Amino acid sequence: MTRFFNTLSGKVEDFKPLRDGEVGMYTCGPTVYDYAHIGNFRAFIFEDLLRRFLETVGFRVRHVMNLTDVDDKTIAGAAREGKDLEEFTNHYTEAFRQDLRTLNILPPNHPKEQPRATLEIPAMLDLIGTLVKNKIAYEKDGSVYYRISRFPGYGKLSKKKLEENITGTRVDLDEYEKEQASDFALWKKSKEGEPAWDSPWGKGRPGWHIECSAMSMKYLGQTFDIHAGGEDLIFPHHENEIAQSEAASGKPFVRYWLHCKFLLVNGEKMAKSKNNFYTLRDLLEKGHDPMAIRYELISTHYRMPLNFTLEGLSEASEIIKKLDDCYFQCLSIFNYMRKSKTHEKIKDAKAAANRLKQLWQNMIDSLSDDLNVSKALAALFEAVTEINAAMAGKRLSQEDAETVLMFFKNVDRLFGFDIASDADIPDVIFSDLTSRNTIRQDAEFKKNRDLQQRSDRLREAIHEKGWLIKDGRPGEVSTLKRKKRAWD
Ligand code: AMP
Ligand code: ZN
Repeated sequence: MTRFFNTLSGKVEDFKPLRDGEVGMYTCGPTVYDYAHIGNFRAFIFEDLLRRFLETVGFRVRHVMNLTDVDDKTIAGAAREGKDLEEFTNHYTEAFRQDLRTLNILPPNHPKEQPRATLEIPAMLDLIGTLVKNKIAYEKDGSVYYRISRFPGYGKLSKKKLEENITGTRVDLDEYEKEQASDFALWKKSKEGEPAWDSPWGKGRPGWHIECSAMSMKYLGQTFDIHAGGEDLIFPHHENEIAQSEAASGKPFVRYWLHCKFLLVNGEKMAKSKNNFYTLRDLLEKGHDPMAIRYELISTHYRMPLNFTLEGLSEASEIIKKLDDCYFQCLSIFNYMRKSKTHEKIKDAKAAANRLKQLWQNMIDSLSDDLNVSKALAALFEAVTEINAAMAGKRLSQEDAETVLMFFKNVDRLFGFDIASDADIPDVIFSDLTSRNTIRQDAEFKKNRDLQQRSDRLREAIHEKGWLIKDGRPGEVSTLKRKKRAWD
C-alpha cells in the first residue's frame, strides 16, 4: 500500500485514488516572468518523482500543470520591458519547457496544451460568478473579494486561526504576508494601461488564486486526488484555492495535499527576492551536468529542507558517473558476449536476475512509504555494487547482462537519470569495440605489432566519434565510457 503525508490531515495516510487505477494530479505551474531557479526545480522534480513513481506502480496519471501568465509579476515585467504580456510570457514559457526537457522532467500530459491563465478567463468568471451568487464574494469599486469569514473551513490546510476582526480587510496583492489572513481579490479592476478582460464587474483581470481553482477543477473535476507544490504555497495560495473551490462546489476539493520543503542556501530559502539563486542556465554555463543537478535535487526526502552547495553538486556528479560507468561497462560486455560466446562458460545465469528483482522491489517499497528516496537510492547503489562485482569477477552471463540493461531502463523510468540512453550510439561504435576486444583477446596480441596497431586505430576511430574506451586488465573486455553527455 502506498502512503503519503497529507498536509491537510497532518498525517501519513494510505493513498486510495477516487477511481481505481487512475490519479488526477494538479501541480501549480511557474509564474512565467523570469527564468525559473533551481529552488523552483526542487518542487518540479519532487512532483516529477511522485508522478513517475505512480506511473511505475501502474496508475494512469492525469497531470495538469498550469502556467501563470497573468499576475502582478508578469504585468510588471512586461511593462518594464515595454512588451505586451503575451510576447513577454511566451519567452519565459518556452525557456521553462526547455528547462523541463534538460532536467528530464516529464511534461504535464493533460490537457494536451498546458493551460494558461489568460486563455481560461471564462472558467474563472464562472467560478467568481458562483461565489458572488452564494454571497461568499462581494464587489467593491470594480474589484471582487472573497469574504473569508463566510467560509468556516478557512485555515484548515495551513492550521491558521481566523481573527474575529479580520472581515473587511482586503488585499489586492497576489502574494501577501504569510501571517496575514484577509479578504483576497478574485477579480481586480484594471489600472490604466494594464491588460484587461470584460466581466460583469467591469474591465479587470483575475487574481492569482482563482486561476488555479478554475483550471484544476475544469480539467480534473470538482474533487480530485493530488495537489502539490512547494511549502510556500500552503498559505495563502492553497488555503485560498480550497476556500474558493469548496464554497463554489460544496464538495471536498483535493484529497491529498503534498508539499515539499525549500531548497536553501546557507540556511535561507532560495528565492528571487533574496538574490541568492542559481537558474538552471547559470549552472549549465558553469559546466554542471543536468543529471547531477537532478540527482542533487531529488535525493533528499521532499519533506526535509535541502541545503544547496556546489560541493553537494559535484558529489552528485560523481554518483551519476558511477551509474553511467556501470551501465556502459555492462552494455559493452553484453555486445562482446553476443559475438564471442564467452558467456557459454558462465553458469548460474539466473542469480543476477533474482537479486535485481529483489532490489527493485526494495526501491518500489521504499518509495511507497511517502517517497522514501534515500532508502530507494541505497537499494540502487547496492545493485550497482553487486553488478560491478559480478562484472569484475566475470560472473555475468549474457542473460544476466541483458537483465542489468533492463534494470537500468527501469531505473531511468522511475528516477529520470537518463543513464541507459544509448539510442544515440551508432552501431559502428559497438562493432568497432567488439572487433577491438576480439583482437585484444588474441593469444598473439602481446607480441604482434600489427594486431596492436589495429587495436590502436579502432580506439582512435571510436574516440573520434565522441566516445572513450576504458581498457580492462589483461584478458578483460574493454568497455565504452561516455566522454560527454548529450547537452554538451
Ligand atoms: P513560482 O513560479 O514562484 O510560482 O514557484 C514555482 C514553484 O516553486 C512553487 O511550487 C513554489 O512553491 C516552488 N518554490 C519556490 N522557491 C522554492 C525553494 N527555494 N525551494 C523549493 N521550492 C520552491
Ligand atoms: Zn496554484
